[in-house]
Amino acid sequence: MTKVLQIGAGGVGTVVAHKLAMSPVFTDIMLASRTVSKCDDIAASVKGKTGVTIATASVDADNVAQTVELIKSFGPDLVINVALPYQDLTLMEACLQAGVHYLDTANYEHPDTAKFEYKEQWAFQERFKEAGLTALLGSGFDPGVTNMFCAHAQKNLFDTIETIDILDCNGGDHGHPFATNFNPEINIREITANGRYWENGKWIETEPLEQSMMFDFPGVGERKAFLLYHEEMESLCQNIKGLKRIRFWMTFGEAYLKHLDVIQNLGLDSIKPIEFQGQQIVPIQFLQALLPDPASLAPNYTGKTSIGCLVKGTKDGKERTSFIYNICDHEETYKEVGAQAVSYTTGVPAVVGAEMIATGKWRQPGVWNMEQNDPDPFLERLGPSGLPWHVMDM
Ligand code: NDP
Repeated sequence: MTKVLQIGAGGVGTVVAHKLAMSPVFTDIMLASRTVSKCDDIAASVKGKTGVTIATASVDADNVAQTVELIKSFGPDLVINVALPYQDLTLMEACLQAGVHYLDTANYEHPDTAKFEYKEQWAFQERFKEAGLTALLGSGFDPGVTNMFCAHAQKNLFDTIETIDILDCNGGDHGHPFATNFNPEINIREITANGRYWENGKWIETEPLEQSMMFDFPGVGERKAFLLYHEEMESLCQNIKGLKRIRFWMTFGEAYLKHLDVIQNLGLDSIKPIEFQGQQIVPIQFLQALLPDPASLAPNYTGKTSIGCLVKGTKDGKERTSFIYNICDHEETYKEVGAQAVSYTTGVPAVVGAEMIATGKWRQPGVWNMEQNDPDPFLERLGPSGLPWHVMDM
């Protein structure tokens, strides 16, 4: 199986297209998105860097019939969804109707309520099973690689796991007073929502950015990280046996938090439409139009991302604490594929996940979160694909 259709031509899409062309597994690639000129620009860069020609097309992935038509006309075995989380359900539906496997990097979000949950995607379980098709959910970095680090800890490093803290640090500098590293609307919705973590079988809610802690991130140094809700916890709390607590932390600098405060005070993060000069506008979408396009940050980005899972438990009757992590350099990823490290750390695992389905290593019919698969073949491919990872015993 070598034919793949990628949908979405933003920051992450740029990385996915380049890495699909570099992968030994895929020989026939099509890139489609709402704006075909963006696909053409990426295809030209892929051709220049790798010599591989990829086909391009325009598609509105909110329109199931149009997407099914495109899938059927190209005839891929797998669709990679790196459009936005709003398209997850329509693309899963289109894949079922066209009879192809499905992969994404972020869980479905309701455009009109800021809510992340897998419920609606898990509801496709029986239909994918009956069709003999695989849907792989959340094959980015977090979710994605973080789920794999937890699965690796469970399978290969620990006898029991008590707590997991997922720690995400972007220690990079893009030179703008305020910008988001991936889609601004999705990013701001995630950060301004209430925090939440799971302990002893229950979800505990916090105010947005209420809890913080200092952590010494390998390759970056000490940074303040804030507790957020993040979608991988919803599946990990079910799939990591004996787990007592799981939390997610992300670092933000002072300048970022100051801007976020002003944005919230002015109501610019609101997802409720308002009337403006006879037109309905959604404030957060207006804000997005003013902010730099995340893909445009890449040329001047310096510094590194450092993301990992701090796992506590036991091995051979003794207490064990390990940090499993990756460090990724913005300048190096720009040189390689013309993208910054946040896009790169998402796009590379999407391609590795696609390889797992394409090569049959992970092709169980149904809808699966990452850690429900064997982490070994995925983690074996992750380093050679551009994201080397390490285990540090603390
Ligand atoms: P961008 O906003 O840069 O790009 C989104 C792309 O999707 C654009 O090319 C856009 O097209 C296209 N698109 C949007 N709506 C449609 C539609 N209806 N039909 C077809 N194409 C559409 O986002 P990113 O590249 O930063 O993020 C891509 C995905 O990756 C998101 O789902 C994001 O949540 C996820 N992500 C996951 C992470 C992880 O670690 N798991 C981390 C970071 C991101 P156009 O430009 O023409 O509007």
